[in-house]
Amino acid sequence: MSTAAKKAVAKKSTAGTPKTRTAKKAVMFQRVAFIGIGLIGASMALAMRRAGIVGSMIACARRPKTRKAALRLRIVDEVTADYTVAVKDADLVVIATPISTNGEIAKIIAPHLKKGAIVTDVGSVKQAVIAAVAPHIPRGVDFVPGHPLAGTEHSGPESGFAELFQGRWALLTPLPKHSKKAVAKIAEMWRLLGSKVDMMSAAHHDKVLAITSHLPHLIAYTAVGTATDLAMDMRQEVIEFSASGFRDFTRVAASDPVMWRDIFLNNREAVLEILQRFNEDLTALQRAIRRGDGQALEDLFTRTRAIRRGIIDAKQA
Ligand code: NAP
Repeated sequence: MSTAAKKAVAKKSTAGTPKTRTAKKAVMFQRVAFIGIGLIGASMALAMRRAGIVGSMIACARRPKTRKAALRLRIVDEVTADYTVAVKDADLVVIATPISTNGEIAKIIAPHLKKGAIVTDVGSVKQAVIAAVAPHIPRGVDFVPGHPLAGTEHSGPESGFAELFQGRWALLTPLPKHSKKAVAKIAEMWRLLGSKVDMMSAAHHDKVLAITSHLPHLIAYTAVGTATDLAMDMRQEVIEFSASGFRDFTRVAASDPVMWRDIFLNNREAVLEILQRFNEDLTALQRAIRRGDGQALEDLFTRTRAIRRGIIDAKQA
């Protein structure tokens, strides 16, 4: 093959690499403001940069330590402690702080939002966040509530990574009064960050999450809490000989205390409803053990095993 032909082949073979594709991607947002730059905010910023869909990014955080880390790790271009400075000129504002703060933040930033901007959030509960944020959103600005079903037990900007959303769901709970174009844009943004996107009502979201996320966390907190309350010598052995079941619980129960406090307080009804159901099922299981009803236990464990296989097949393991 001639040198010119080799060069042509080499050029063609690199044309489809992720790097080349990223460089060609159109900028979706000229300026993005992150209110809160912890695990989720930082991961979004890193993923947006990697996808090549942003111009400049600014993050707002209360603590100097957080702001310094966000700059040092080149997560964003600028930082500020002032919400209003952050949102000035931003086409997209991402609220990524604990959900109990979202209403107050929306109230403060509202008069400073650029006309035509989109505000989105990442809160793990949707009805409460919408009730707190939506009334403050001014005319000419769209609010698109969202929730990426991705996370780790770690917090802060240092724990962020661009691949966090890869293959995970991003759920949007759009409001009828806001533009379909803005919803489509946020959906497209999540796809470009690697997520699969689905839309549903906020009420449905909160019910589904109560079962799939909030209840498991409550169980993990309880299991680890019970072990913590054991006598000292027993507790030491629990830690020393920790088998995988308990180890998995400790990972889940290491999740951020403030975030989870807010989730339970803001999704109270759905969580209490599912907890009631769980208590009934637990009592049935207790009865089966007491009666030595092995068949009942085996039947349940066979059903639950199938659920696990379904999760693996759906690539959500
Ligand atoms: P994180 O790592 O703890 O970061 C929280 C950010 O908010 C930090 O920048 C923090 O910085 C700021 N912040 C904390 N308390 C604040 C307050 N009272 N007022 C203003 N700012 C405050 O939390 P995260 O995991 O990214 O979670 C953020 C949001 O994402 C939550 O709404 C959560 O429901 C949602 N979410 C989390 C996960 C997950 O697995 N972690 C998954 C999906 C959705 P400073 O304290 O320095 O200001």
